Amino acid sequence: MDCACFAFAKANTVKYTLLFYKKRRSCIKLFLSLSKILKMAKSILIIGACGQIGTELTTALRKVYGSNSVVAADIREGSEELMKSGPFEILDAMDASRIDTICAQYFIDEVYLMAAMLSATGERFPKKAWDLNMNSLFNVLDLAKEGKVSKVFWPSSIAVFGPTTPAVNTPQKTIMEPSTVYGISKQTGERWCEYYHNKYGVDVRSLRYPGLISWKAQPGGGTTDYAVDIFHQALEHNTFECFLEQDTMLPMMYMEDAIRATMEIMKAPSKTIKDRSAYNLAGISFTPAQIAAEIQKHQPTFTITYKPDFRQQIADSWPGSIDDSQANEDWGWNHHYDLESMVTEMFTQLPKRINF
Ligand code: NAD
Repeated sequence: MDCACFAFAKANTVKYTLLFYKKRRSCIKLFLSLSKILKMAKSILIIGACGQIGTELTTALRKVYGSNSVVAADIREGSEELMKSGPFEILDAMDASRIDTICAQYFIDEVYLMAAMLSATGERFPKKAWDLNMNSLFNVLDLAKEGKVSKVFWPSSIAVFGPTTPAVNTPQKTIMEPSTVYGISKQTGERWCEYYHNKYGVDVRSLRYPGLISWKAQPGGGTTDYAVDIFHQALEHNTFECFLEQDTMLPMMYMEDAIRATMEIMKAPSKTIKDRSAYNLAGISFTPAQIAAEIQKHQPTFTITYKPDFRQQIADSWPGSIDDSQANEDWGWNHHYDLESMVTEMFTQLPKRINF
């Protein structure tokens, strides 16, 4: 129903604009106006919309393009807020023909593929992680190759780097020998994105997200999840047992910056996107001890203990800080949040969400 209304509204807007301009006989204005309408009428599909990033990306895109222009899809239902805010479809990212059907049904122009199995869960189910992470990407890239959608966003990760990568200020182009199945799938995905762009002209764009910190949705099984959980445990129990060592430095970013980066790279003119594998993206680098100290500024009696598990080995294989100057040069990227402002924002927003 949503989709029928959308198509009807789209057709009617174009029809009445044509009638109006027929009277005025102004071809240039007609062209400019139609381009504007088509730009505004862009419709977007987010696959994996109910996850940590998808939940916030859906809200942000709906604010810009309108609720009915952004279709959220996932293998499961999401938060009440997300489900109520616009069209939603149950969709398995492994099911190419259903993705095709939904894209045709809603006249989709752009697809954001957020469904994936993340690093820690991926180590438990390596074959499943590979199947999901690779097949879902091929499904979407093939759709773009066939001209059925015009633009694709697919996120990569700092997990593409490995123990042989320079760990400080990791450059855009460097040694990449990932040691997790998740990292291997992301690195392979980057190669395929570049291949589809070079070979078939597919407009695919990608970012190597660091660990993302947010208050709206829970993280989905990554090695950097501790940096979100620490806030929940601090507010609910005033103490936190960390699964990483106190001095494990990892690159992180506040979600608002990550969403803005995603929207900025998708809006940038095609010629400015010179790297079609994925861009390094840097935010804040900190250790568990450093974030705990920042939390203690808001909650002085908060305590932290350390009990490293299998995720320590994954974290040890990743860089501590990232050089994202290429993203800055090519499409003007800059992060806004530092550790202090991010922790303050988490302490402002999260208590509103938690039922104590
Ligand atoms: P998440 O686990 O929170 O969300 C993934 C979503 O995909 C979930 O809602 C899940 O239900 C859905 N999903 C799983 N299998 C599916 C399937 N077969 N079909 C449809 N949907 C399916 O993950 P996230 O943190 O939101 O990450 C999104 C993307 O960003 C992933 O590609 C991830 O690798 C990448 N990334 C995330 C981070 C981070 O810190 N969150 C960092 C680097 C990269």
